[in-house]
Amino acid sequence: MRLAVLWLVFFMSAAGTTSAAAPLRVVTTTAQIADVVRNVAGPRAMVESIMGEAVDPHTYRQTRSDIVTLRRADLVLYNGLYLEPQLEPLLQRLARSQNVVAVGEKLDPEMLLSHPDYDGKFDPHIWMDVAIWSRIVPVVVDALARVEPDERAFFEERAKVYLDELAGLGAYVREVLASIPERSRILVTAHDAFRYLARANDIEVVGIQGLSTESEAGLQRVETLVDMLVERGVGAVFVESSVPRRNIMALVEGCAARGHGISVGGSLYSDAMGAPNSYEGTYVGMIDHNATAIASALGGTVPERGWQGRLGAGS
Ligand SMILES: [Zn+2]
Repeated sequence: MRLAVLWLVFFMSAAGTTSAAAPLRVVTTTAQIADVVRNVAGPRAMVESIMGEAVDPHTYRQTRSDIVTLRRADLVLYNGLYLEPQLEPLLQRLARSQNVVAVGEKLDPEMLLSHPDYDGKFDPHIWMDVAIWSRIVPVVVDALARVEPDERAFFEERAKVYLDELAGLGAYVREVLASIPERSRILVTAHDAFRYLARANDIEVVGIQGLSTESEAGLQRVETLVDMLVERGVGAVFVESSVPRRNIMALVEGCAARGHGISVGGSLYSDAMGAPNSYEGTYVGMIDHNATAIASALGGTVPERGWQGRLGAGS
């Protein structure tokens, strides 16, 4: 009996503590945005992204449980810029009654690349340039502080620490990509996710599908690319975690048939990050992995385990 009373007191006080300092429920579409929120909000938010590892945001449709999760959120953040076209009608409906922010659409359009396939739209792959993605951090601070104004200083303090880390990461990316020899500065991948990285680091980028992964690469396009790869002596092409390998393998086989050996320079994280709770499952780890893999495969100089020796080391 006495024990039961003690338990009751314990539960009541635990419940009381929890509700007084209940963390915000933040739901994001991509894991990249969730990672920014975790860094900025720390213990003040419970963050969930509805798109997991290796999910393609260009084609993702919400599930019933996503809708429930989104409706319960104190704050919903999505990339916008037409990255999540299937989700946009739902997100726009939610915005009438909930806090919903398209973080990419808060950026100065001056810094964005235009979309090669859609007039008047922008390339949505903004996380690929660390300098641009860093501009998302204050957008997330503002969005959180609008929901929880008393915590603004707390969010800003944490944002400052995270921005310092991103500045270090950006410097590493520039350094290793600058070490790629002039003639090899060409990045061939399955879809055009890397144009911001290419622009920031003076690399030519060729996607063998369009910007969206919805269309199959035509045979004609594969032929043209094989010609280009053979002619320019490109040594490596890359696969992506969220895109089927078959189109890239068609290039490798096409080159082999012409007597030009070309290797798969590794798998890059384009639209999705690595496994949750691994280093590559963070934004910093994803970008570190990509820059290190690209520079290494194209003849640049890289530290064996990437920036700060953390690649492949788990969390
Ligand atoms: Zn994409």
